[in-house]
Amino acid sequence: MYQGRPLTVILAAGGWGTRFGGKLPKQFTELAGRSVLCVAAEPFAADSRVDEIVVVVPEAYREQAESELRVLCQQKRLTVVPGGADRTASVNAGLTAAFAEDGIVLVHDAARPFVSSEVIDSVLKAAFTYGAAVPAVPVTDTIYETVPSGDEEAAPYLAARIPDRGTLRAVQTPQGFDLALLRAAHQKARETGLAVTDDGMPVFSAGERVAVVAGDSANIKITTPEDLPAKFPAGSGFRIGFGFDAHRFAEDRPLILGGVLIPFEKGLAGHSDADVLTHALMDAILGALRAGDIGQRFPDTDDAYKGVSSMLLLGDVVSLMEKEGYELANCDLTLVAERPKMAPHHSAVEESLAAALGTEPENVSLKATTTEKLGFTGREEGIAAEAAVLLRRK
Ligand code: MG
Repeated sequence: MYQGRPLTVILAAGGWGTRFGGKLPKQFTELAGRSVLCVAAEPFAADSRVDEIVVVVPEAYREQAESELRVLCQQKRLTVVPGGADRTASVNAGLTAAFAEDGIVLVHDAARPFVSSEVIDSVLKAAFTYGAAVPAVPVTDTIYETVPSGDEEAAPYLAARIPDRGTLRAVQTPQGFDLALLRAAHQKARETGLAVTDDGMPVFSAGERVAVVAGDSANIKITTPEDLPAKFPAGSGFRIGFGFDAHRFAEDRPLILGGVLIPFEKGLAGHSDADVLTHALMDAILGALRAGDIGQRFPDTDDAYKGVSSMLLLGDVVSLMEKEGYELANCDLTLVAERPKMAPHHSAVEESLAAALGTEPENVSLKATTTEKLGFTGREEGIAAEAAVLLRRK
């Protein structure tokens, strides 16, 4: 409820975003691990004043939208309906599906995932007072009205009118309305065949006042993939990561460290090949990418990873690193064990790991230490490993 009136939100994600060019409609593109639609819905789902959320999506994405939004919107009445041929048809589908008879409605583009609570508050306040309110920002470009010149080849248009830029505003969403007023305005627009590109237009055309409040330049509409922020903001060219692992010694197992078979009287116990050094290294890379840990990525409850070479798993982690746009700058590894003596194997391990990491052996440093017979490594119960990595944006 807002000021004692029911508050409905219509999230319009009906379009296919043909300019976006991706395989998915832009509303379902991933943003920070969730769809753009989910991120756009979140401020409304978290707003205790909102009673009802109506989401309009392409028919083919109805189920996906429902499953993504169900948990997020569990405090609200949630309706997901298929969209129409264009934005107006989609908003109309949302207005028809809305449970509320009256009250305030906020209509928001699902392709605007960065709306602030300040903008929502200003729109609500003005919509309550005026019956219709849109957020807008001053335009930075000079805008010309044009007419066809008749000369397609040399110059297809001529300037017809140059409005004073100071009075022009670029309109955003969410736009807020008295629900009955908006329904009537869209009805009238349909009857008169008015070409509608936002929801303030039919209300304005019906002779009603439309309040214009301050929008936010960050409240952009995602149109092309370049509009999506990188997972890590530009400028953070480097990512640091740290990993640790330990495994217990076991009889009748090979000892594999950094993908190299080390001649020794026993090996390490574990679900995979128990390559403790490679495990620490993978966790360091995953940490740098903020992508969880190897336990989540390769669960030891999954038989697929039973006895698997850890170098294969490292290959998967390196692919992820490359997909995220990073390469290894260098890594520094410490093996903690009383025995075996590692000195004869250093270069073999460094070369093995460098090959898997797609880098030169100079960028991989292996050190070994004992713990002076202290602790589990000192008692020769197992081996521990630590890894630090620096990743560089490609
Ligand atoms: Mg391990």
